[in-house]
Amino acid sequence: MPLPTDFRFSQGSLQDYVDCPRRFQLRYVGRVAWPAIELEPVIENERYLQQGTAFHRLVHQYALGVPAAQLTTAASKKDLRRWWRNYLESRPANLPAARYPEIVLSAPLGGYRLLAKYDLVAVDPEQRVVIVDWKTSRKRTPRRWLEERLQTKVYPYLVVQAGAHLNGGRALQPQQVTMIYWFADFPADPEHFVYDAARHETDAAYLTALVQEIAGLGDEFFPLTSNERRCRYCPYRSLCQRGVAAGQFDEVVGAGLETRPYELGDALDISLDLEQIAEIEY
Ligand code: SF4
Repeated sequence: MPLPTDFRFSQGSLQDYVDCPRRFQLRYVGRVAWPAIELEPVIENERYLQQGTAFHRLVHQYALGVPAAQLTTAASKKDLRRWWRNYLESRPANLPAARYPEIVLSAPLGGYRLLAKYDLVAVDPEQRVVIVDWKTSRKRTPRRWLEERLQTKVYPYLVVQAGAHLNGGRALQPQQVTMIYWFADFPADPEHFVYDAARHETDAAYLTALVQEIAGLGDEFFPLTSNERRCRYCPYRSLCQRGVAAGQFDEVVGAGLETRPYELGDALDISLDLEQIAEIEY
């Protein structure tokens, strides 16, 4: 099945392609539902995912004006309580006053569209834009790993392409943009990526080439990753005849390793509410 003409790329789907073209094809083109456990133990994995989702919800509600005391009462589970306390005490300081939590932006890319859902975009019009992403991984993800992630390329690129309406209608310049990864378990050790025109140009070329490469594969059978460690955390491993047993939860969430196939939660990209998208043509 070829890529539909109205296909929308996200950092999650592009990351899947880079990690394993076949997984991209199965998940996003074929939309193959293949029941398999991604991580063992299942209950611990589920609990962790729920806590991470709940943390993002709390931060979103706080940004919308719900009083902290009220939200603190809701943060009753162990991990969530710790993350929320860290957020209240040590969240990124000096963010611009205009805050856009959970905003979705979209722009054309290589004949298709690219979209992203941000945890937070904070804007000081005509001065600076700060993208903040909340991470709940148990180990501090290394900068060199983050640097390679599609998220670090897509988010700043797209805010420049599609964020003019956040800047009083004027185009954003790449050098105005900073991206911060803030770690709920390492609140004093966030990672900053400062954007610039050279990086924007490089990202534009890379992302366009990636989309064109994917589109060029048409309805071919996309290749399987040569890194079989990725298959241990992939729901399609029995379909691909790459084993049956799931990877261990501790290896993924606890390690912050490059071996993990994708950031937990990225799979949620597939269910973005397209009605929310601010589509800016250029
Ligand atoms: S099991 Fe391995 S080869 Fe198959 S889709 Fe998943 S990561 Fe790719």
